[in-house]
Amino acid sequence: MGRRKLVVGNWKMNGLRAQLPEVEAIGALAAERPAVEVGLCLPATLIMAASQVKGGAFVGAQDCHMKDNGAHTGCLSAAMLAEAGASWTIVGHSERRQDQGETDADVAAKALAARAAGLKVILCVGESLDVRDAGGAEDVVSAQLLASLPEGAAADWLAIAYEPIWAIGTGRIPTMEAVEAMHKALRAALASRIGAGEANAMRILYGGSMNGENAAELMAIEDVDGGLVGGASLTATKFAPVIAAAG
Ligand code: PEP
Repeated sequence: MGRRKLVVGNWKMNGLRAQLPEVEAIGALAAERPAVEVGLCLPATLIMAASQVKGGAFVGAQDCHMKDNGAHTGCLSAAMLAEAGASWTIVGHSERRQDQGETDADVAAKALAARAAGLKVILCVGESLDVRDAGGAEDVVSAQLLASLPEGAAADWLAIAYEPIWAIGTGRIPTMEAVEAMHKALRAALASRIGAGEANAMRILYGGSMNGENAAELMAIEDVDGGLVGGASLTATKFAPVIAAAG
């Protein structure tokens, strides 16, 4: 069976209640395209309200803590996010790896905590520009993926997002050949850990300046199973052609 395309918006630290009509409009677009799984990973403050207007889209979070509860001021557990209405969460986004110093082990622990609370997970990996320029990015990112991969990783609750750090928010993307080579390498790395069958079922998204102009070409690549989309997911107008490109 083929992998259903997964297209997820990451709103990062953007969005107030005034943007709920955009969530609703994106939910309506998602309902028109049941062949594509569409979601929005929103600021936690919007999750509950967005869940009421999400239409055919799912609502997700952008991070969760690895612990169930405790003295962690300002943090949110996976169960809290699930109770608010999230059904997915991102873990290991490069902005959190950089800004909050999250390690591969942290990312794996967060993924496990999310799963325990019933959340599905998008686990992000990707190389810096220095690594890309030095060559061998596939080996570096494959190693990062294997070090971040949680126990029991399986396609029914986990998806991978390959996001070259230098492509996020910059308008630059790798060549199609480079994306193809990376996704192939990541699937091979997954197969080495979880077996070929599970690796073939797991979705590997591309993220980094995906938009209505490049989404069709990116998502036509054999091992690209959708997109994690920042800036181009903030309005229904911008997100619509990305969703359409997925099928
Ligand atoms: C992201 O942050 O996950 C992302 C892909 O951002 P953008 O699409 O804006 O590059």
